[in-house]
Amino acid sequence: MSDSENKIECPTHGEANRAFVCNHLAGDPRQRWYCNYPTKDDPWPDAWCGACEQAFQEQGEWNEQNSQNLNLKILCHNCYDNKKGSSVAPLMEARSASWLPLVSNANSELQAKLDHLKEQYELSEHERWDWSQETGEIVFSNAGVPAVIARIQFVGSISTVSNTWLWSWSNSNLNPNISLDLPAVRTFGETEDFAALTVPRWPADEVDGWEMTAIAAKVLNAQGAYRTPGETGFTYMLLDDVRRAQ
Ligand SMILES: [Zn+2]
Ligand SMILES: [Zn+2]
Repeated sequence: MSDSENKIECPTHGEANRAFVCNHLAGDPRQRWYCNYPTKDDPWPDAWCGACEQAFQEQGEWNEQNSQNLNLKILCHNCYDNKKGSSVAPLMEARSASWLPLVSNANSELQAKLDHLKEQYELSEHERWDWSQETGEIVFSNAGVPAVIARIQFVGSISTVSNTWLWSWSNSNLNPNISLDLPAVRTFGETEDFAALTVPRWPADEVDGWEMTAIAAKVLNAQGAYRTPGETGFTYMLLDDVRRAQ
């Protein structure tokens, strides 16, 4: 298929990529989405609802009978992302009795780790920081002299343009090496049924970014975390192997 055959004209977003969802998700996206995780080759994988998933499981395959019910609808990729993102709030609301204590606990744990790092390495007092996706390190330096170095894993980013959180494991612009550990956080989210940890992109602010980072630091037992500002938002990362340069 040529690129142009994959494009559609969305009344809201203009020219966009084509994505497919079952007609139930298209009509009521605020429910669990069953689909693969996005990859570079398939950034908007076909998705269906719980009822369609049950029909799929019963038959063990898509066949004439259960695929009729799917009645796939075409969405533009932006509408797909927006609709999928809108599932997170109601799904997390339903899990709040388990989620809120976990977040609170993860926040205090991360705060203690950050206090400790601040005391030992004065992370906020260095003149500048430079991270590299290639080396997987962040270097804090003063007057061109490296002072503190740490290994980094990107957790995700907050866009202050779209006001969304994007998990690093679904961000195809990143070097894959920079998020190798993060799928474990997603697996934890699957086990515990926390959509915020499994949906790639959803409406969020800077506080949500810190919460996802605190959960990731807890699940991966990281030494600490850091956030760097960019032109369109913030990048959140875990720190490990923190050490003085000399
Ligand atoms: Zn469905
Ligand atoms: Zn659209």
